Parts: sequence; C-alpha cells; structure tokens
Amino acid sequence: MPRFAASDWTCDNNACQICTAPERDEMTMLRCAILWLLEHGRWMVQDEISLPDILSAGDHYLSRLKGTSDDGVPAPAAEHWAWLEAELRLTVARAAGLDAVSTFDTRIDSVLASAAHLDERGQVQLLDLAAEQFAELHTQPRTA
Ligand SMILES: [Zn+2]
Repeated sequence: MPRFAASDWTCDNNACQICTAPERDEMTMLRCAILWLLEHGRWMVQDEISLPDILSAGDHYLSRLKGTSDDGVPAPAAEHWAWLEAELRLTVARAAGLDAVSTFDTRIDSVLASAAHLDERGQVQLLDLAAEQFAELHTQPRTA
C-alpha cells in the first residue's frame, strides 16, 4: 500500500470524527472515505439502492459526489478500492452482530446477505450503527 504523508488529508466536514481525531496517519483518508460511504449509504437506501450495491459501488458513488460538490470529498486511488470495500463490508457485518475481526472471515457474506433483507429503516439503522462503531474504533487513543 502506498504511503501518504501523515496529515495531508482532511475533509471539509468539521464533524468528521476521523479527520478531527488527534492521531492521523496514512490511513486517515481511507477511513474518512468509509465513514462518508456509511453516512451517505442511508440516502442510497432511501433511493432503493440495494445493500450489496451500496457496499460495492462506493467508488462510483464517491466520484459522483465529487463531481457535484467539488472539494471535501475523499477520493481514494483505484488501488485502494479492494481494501476499502473489504473494510466496509467487515464494518457493516460487525454492526449486524458478527464477531468478525478479519475481512477474510467467511461468515461476512451470509451476514450481509441477511442484512440486505432488512426493511429500509432497518438498513438505515444498521449503517448508522456501523458508522458509529467505526468512528469509535478508529478514534480511540492508540496504545503504543
Ligand atoms: Zn473526514
């Protein structure tokens, strides 16, 4: 994975918990992108976009957003998308109650498949919870 300068990314959202966290590293922008996708996912659900599409079409979605509202939108490089999608799927599966710690957990698929059957409200709640847990997990002070 290519390295980024320690703090060369911040989105324009003052409420972004990832970008406002005191500890920043080369992953900050990618984590910010995940948070964006989880938060915007709730609108995608309301647009009747299916959960599997929300979790796999993030690159298209972010580039579309970037086209409409210019700066402040994270734009991960193409080579990061596989990582990002895997991380996004893990985060949502965990919010759905799976005790997975690795993106390679083979149960993630089936957990996400059942989550896709939740009604609109259930999916929005799931994405909200995923965003909350993700922000919490990555903004805790690290123990060296
Ligand atoms: Zn951010």
